Amino acid sequence: MTTFWAPHAWLRREGGSLTAVEDDVRIDVDATGRISAITPDSGPAPEGATVLTGLTLPGLANAHSHAFHRALRGAVQVGSGTFWTWRDTMYRAADALDPDNYLALATVVYAEMALAGVTSVGEFHYVHHQPGGAPYADPNAMGEALIEAAARAGIRITLLDACYLSSGFGEAPNRHQTRFSDGTAEAWAARVSLLKDRDHAKIGAAIHSVRAVPEEELGTVAAWAKERQAPLHVHLSEQVAENEHCLAAHGVTPTQLLARHGVLGPRTSAVHATHLSEEDMRVLTDTSTVICMCPTTERDLADGIGPARQLAGGGCPISLGSDSHAVIDLFEEARALELNERLATQRRGHWTAAALLRAATEDGHASLGWTESGRLERGALADFCTVALDTPRTAGQSPRLGAETAVFAATSADVRDVVVGGRIVVRDGVHLSVPETGRTLNEAIAALR
Ligand SMILES: [Zn+2]
Repeated sequence: MTTFWAPHAWLRREGGSLTAVEDDVRIDVDATGRISAITPDSGPAPEGATVLTGLTLPGLANAHSHAFHRALRGAVQVGSGTFWTWRDTMYRAADALDPDNYLALATVVYAEMALAGVTSVGEFHYVHHQPGGAPYADPNAMGEALIEAAARAGIRITLLDACYLSSGFGEAPNRHQTRFSDGTAEAWAARVSLLKDRDHAKIGAAIHSVRAVPEEELGTVAAWAKERQAPLHVHLSEQVAENEHCLAAHGVTPTQLLARHGVLGPRTSAVHATHLSEEDMRVLTDTSTVICMCPTTERDLADGIGPARQLAGGGCPISLGSDSHAVIDLFEEARALELNERLATQRRGHWTAAALLRAATEDGHASLGWTESGRLERGALADFCTVALDTPRTAGQSPRLGAETAVFAATSADVRDVVVGGRIVVRDGVHLSVPETGRTLNEAIAALR
């Protein structure tokens, strides 16, 4: 057994759904990496315990990632353009990937996530084959590289293997997209069925978007996920043009097209959901579909502000993702939901800090199939992170307001310790297996040029 001790921790009250900051919290972890006991007001740190100085939170879930987009940070901030011109630059980075350089890059991107308090990532993966479209000797070589990268970085992964078959409604993949395509959803399913869950990895499904999967193939992907009770993610209505093209091709919106083929539901996460009609919102709330918001990417790509507050009010769980990794900071994603609403409505107080933390922790983990993580309670997986409360950004308030401080003032640089399955991954702001994270990122990104 391993024992941790936190002067302050954000806990779920035993048997209840309310969370609060408790003091002097002893966390015992058993040999299987689960919390065997959690004791507030436990007195001083016991001898031999690992002391977590600051506010300990459940591990953060980064529910939407494309690891290789990290290579674009900064480079895509020169000049002007739209989502579509940004995408051309992104495709050039995708062209340079192979299983070896992607393993190297993703390992250090996931290490950056761990440093930011992330204990699970949802990797929305679509670069499956060689440039031109020929499979690798192992047809899942790229997905396996991502699973191995997460292991090396010490975090959990849900590999959301994306079906990507077309360039638009009725158009074949372009020369960049050929390596994304399996040809048919049936061939996609045969390949993905070869991937197996591991202790740190789950296999899920994704529909890249209604642009990339023809209507008659949607049901095959949904059925694959349903049979396995696996998470199913889909990019939804990020851009107005997607809605317009879908209406022109099918006479319905993307949301309604997905609903028609059984894609929506509580195991499904709709990513972005930016441009929705009232009817779309009714369909999403009626099906209890999870909404994955990626506010730092949505503002970076000039997408717009999605109706997260309205969808959450209707009963959709909310998760958060750093998506294109313009920044990797789940606190920034969380507060952006509230701050975007303030700008749009000229009013404050749409979300509580606790609700935003729940999106970043428990609901994010659940959307990735890690239903036993994201909570500090007995029996849960021992995944947690500690935010320092004595940095220039976080100092000055009572620890009772730790959740508010974390969500509205902290940055990823304030994360001090990260534990996954009882194993210390980050200690005092240093990643233990990728200690020179910045330098290693430089090397991994330079290798793509
Ligand atoms: Zn995405």
